[in-house]
Amino acid sequence: TVEAETQELTDGFHLVIDALKLNGIDTIYGVPGIPITDLGRMAQEEGIRVVSFRHEQNAGNAAAIAGFLTKKPGICLTVSAPGFLNGLTALANATTNCFPMILISGSSEREIVDLQQGDYEEMDQLAIAKPLCKAAFRVLHAADIGIGVARAIRAAVSGRPGGVYLDLPAKLFSQVMDAEAGAKSLVKVIDPAPAQLPAPAAVQRALDLLKDAKRPLIVLGKGAAYAQADDEIRTLIEKSGIPFLPMSMAKGILPDTHPQSAGAARSLVLKDSDVVVLIGARLNWLLSHGKGKSWGDAPKKFIQIDIEPKEMDSNVEIAAPLVGDIGSCVTALIDGMGESFPKASSDWTGSVASKKDANIAKMAPRLLKNSSPMDFHSALGALRTIIKERPDTMLVNEGANTLDLARGIIDMYEPRKRLDVGTWGVMGIGMGFAIAAAVETGKPVLAVEGDSAFGFSGMEVETICRYNLPVCVVVFNNNGIYRGTDTDPTGRDPGTTVFVKDSRYDKMMEAFGGVGVNVTTPHELAAAVNAAIDSGRPTLINAVIDPEAGSESGNIGSLNPQSVVKKK
Ligand code: ADP
Ligand code: MG
Repeated sequence: TVEAETQELTDGFHLVIDALKLNGIDTIYGVPGIPITDLGRMAQEEGIRVVSFRHEQNAGNAAAIAGFLTKKPGICLTVSAPGFLNGLTALANATTNCFPMILISGSSEREIVDLQQGDYEEMDQLAIAKPLCKAAFRVLHAADIGIGVARAIRAAVSGRPGGVYLDLPAKLFSQVMDAEAGAKSLVKVIDPAPAQLPAPAAVQRALDLLKDAKRPLIVLGKGAAYAQADDEIRTLIEKSGIPFLPMSMAKGILPDTHPQSAGAARSLVLKDSDVVVLIGARLNWLLSHGKGKSWGDAPKKFIQIDIEPKEMDSNVEIAAPLVGDIGSCVTALIDGMGESFPKASSDWTGSVASKKDANIAKMAPRLLKNSSPMDFHSALGALRTIIKERPDTMLVNEGANTLDLARGIIDMYEPRKRLDVGTWGVMGIGMGFAIAAAVETGKPVLAVEGDSAFGFSGMEVETICRYNLPVCVVVFNNNGIYRGTDTDPTGRDPGTTVFVKDSRYDKMMEAFGGVGVNVTTPHELAAAVNAAIDSGRPTLINAVIDPEAGSESGNIGSLNPQSVVKKK
């Protein structure tokens, strides 16, 4: 009929894009290919920023850290089966780290996949994604796209944030429906991450415990950074006078140079504290599970603020669980403290301060040497000064020694500026995080990378050049994993942990039109980084580090199983 011919139509492609836009999603990280090539093109045409990567895992890591930085789910778009699986690693990592992210993947014909008849890139992606993320959904009808996207967004950001999988079979994209009905089917998610107020009795229990503490400690985790409750957290810490210990991605919520920072007295405060307030930090391996040698013999009571009730008692008894969002919980504590709440005793804060000053003084000379070849300390000493002078720089950091030493040496001054390997201690986040950090914040990015860590995502230097991002990558090149000195005892091959000697990673950046620099001293390193940040041009600095420098597995060598069978 004439009516049908003049009817305005929409389709799956446009409904997905409209649903994302309606919910304030302005960026997609992905890798194009069947069946989502046109989706990316159309999204770009409709004004969404589409950042195309060389490998899905890096796009996924970018989406995950975009979620951490913005509290909106980062979107990663992948092709079916292998592309999906590559993205899934990042989705699982996001879920582990409590970063909100949605992996949207195209998939093959349901009818063929479910009968296992061998379709192009056949895989039951929904079933595979499910155990690795917070929630997983599939949309089969164009009319359900609005609801599917809304469910994915709410699942990603409400409660404990995490990864969500959204499966969009190829056929969905070309399904048509009436445009007006399509528009009506979209859902703008209202209050996607509602505040969760702590129970008044729980607040009182925590305050009672804190009031009697002799040696209280506050531990800040990346949940506290994510919550963006910076002012409330600062007020709680300064009003109570309690020393605080930031986990690595919580560094900078308060500056590491704050008088109450106990970062440089970590061993002492873990051992000697009697009441510990955990704010958005889990008692997992990174905190030695809240028990054992690092926590000392003194009886310890924990107050834990977390949005996830099941986190309580995960490793040790939590004497005062405070379930709610960090902003609401910390505000409730501050209000409950009133005017007369006792400050942490100067006996305790004094002993923490003197231990910290002693440790800082001991470290100082190692950071100032202008040696060649560089060791980790002298190279990081140079970078430490740069972050001090340019505190709004986004710092990305991965590696073994490069990570463990940078975490301690480079002071942070602003919240959510340090992005690193997170809960899994995973390698490969580097370029994905660096790209998203530049895209989401517009700030200069300094990525401090071990040479091994860099290799997992190194091809994305092309992406950095293509989008002309203000990213300066520093590769700490000590010729290998941990060190550059392993040899094959049989004499046949290179040692298992070494790379090509004296590689020039800087040439990789030059290949794509960026700036490459090779440096051998801390002074040269500092000059090159400053020039990169001043120019805003994509830069890769190959920082030559003594192959003898570095220890096995950095700070976590104790996790390596040892063979008890000695070869004769
Ligand atoms: P870190 O590794 O820095 O110690 P974790 O990832 O172990 O940090 O812990 C982060 C914790 O923060 C998680 O248990 C998560 O549930 C919690 N969390 C995340 N966002 C919020 C929020 N807005 N309010 C309360 N807790 C949160
Ligand atoms: Mg190395």
